[in-house]
Amino acid sequence: MMSVQAKSPRRVGVFGGTFDPPHLGHLVVAINVLHELQLDEVLLMVANDPWQKQGTREISPATDRLALVEAAVNGISGLTAGSVEVELGGPSYTANTLEYLHAKEELLEIFTIVGADAANGLLTWNRHERVSELSTLVVVDRPGVESALPDPANGHWHRVEIPHLEVSSSDLRDRVNDGRPLDFLVTPPVLAEIEARGMYRNRGASA
Ligand code: ATP
Ligand code: MG
Repeated sequence: MMSVQAKSPRRVGVFGGTFDPPHLGHLVVAINVLHELQLDEVLLMVANDPWQKQGTREISPATDRLALVEAAVNGISGLTAGSVEVELGGPSYTANTLEYLHAKEELLEIFTIVGADAANGLLTWNRHERVSELSTLVVVDRPGVESALPDPANGHWHRVEIPHLEVSSSDLRDRVNDGRPLDFLVTPPVLAEIEARGMYRNRGASA
């Protein structure tokens, strides 16, 4: 009888966001989930068109946001900038992204990583049942956010404890606009990219 060595699937975290800009809060989430769940890789998946944010504020071009995420993860083992949604174009739906990743790689186990605020909005996502079918949900706390997560359809999700960092991209954009420092809230390579690209300047209040 021929014996076939069972290959175990690659364990990949998909941590989606607008990343406008990526900050230490995002990196602390990604690195701790990578470690706790012994993942092979965490993709910081840059939304091409974060449709739920459209019309609420100015969103930086996807190519700029992707460049910032690339700067953020450069040289960090296990963290990768996810460009799939930018390459696919159009509005970004996690269900589509997960289908695309599964189609590309047969032996893949996906973990969808969300902060508590994103988790609370999960039922408003396009085809959210598909997200639960195709991946295991991983929720992390976010300071100031009460978790109201209903049990996902498959009843199977993780919570990973992380240091609570009260950092948000909104605050960082306001800081640049007001001329306040971003130092120690984003990594030096991200700061250099923001400056080189002249991002977030002169946008007016709460840009
Ligand atoms: P914005 O203020 O523009 O909404 P943000 O800081 O919330 O930006 P997003 O790109 O919207 O960043 O978030 C992407 C993901 O990262 C979401 O799941 C969000 O919950 C999570 N996240 C962002 N900041 C933190 C943080 N400080 N701690 C834990 N999770 C976070
Ligand atoms: Mg947000």
